[in-house]
Amino acid sequence: MSTNLLYHGFGIKGYKYKNTTYKGGGVNFRIEQERYTLRCACCGSKEVKPKGKVRRRFKSTPIGSKAVFIMLMVQRVLCLACGALRQVKVGFADQGQLYQGV
Ligand SMILES: [Zn+2]
Repeated sequence: MSTNLLYHGFGIKGYKYKNTTYKGGGVNFRIEQERYTLRCACCGSKEVKPKGKVRRRFKSTPIGSKAVFIMLMVQRVLCLACGALRQVKVGFADQGQLYQGV
C-alpha cells in the first residue's frame, strides 16, 4: 500500500497513506490529509488555522472478501477569511457515492 495506490486504486488524492491495521476481519487504511490541501468548507479560502481533529471512518470497496475501511482524522479549521469554524470537506467522500461514513 502506498500514497500512489490510494490515488490510482481508490481514487483518493491529497492524502498521505499512514498505515494498515487488520481488525475484526476487515482492513483499515489510515490516511492523513496533506496540510496544503486544507480549505474552508464555507468559502473555499486556504487562509485557515487548524483547530483540532475529528476521527471519521469510511467504508470503501472490499478487497476480495475483506471489508475495507478508510480511517481519517478530519481537520477542523478556523477560516481567517470568513470566520467559520468547520471540519474541512473530505474530497473523496463528500463528492460521490463510493464512500460512506460508518
Ligand atoms: Zn471561509
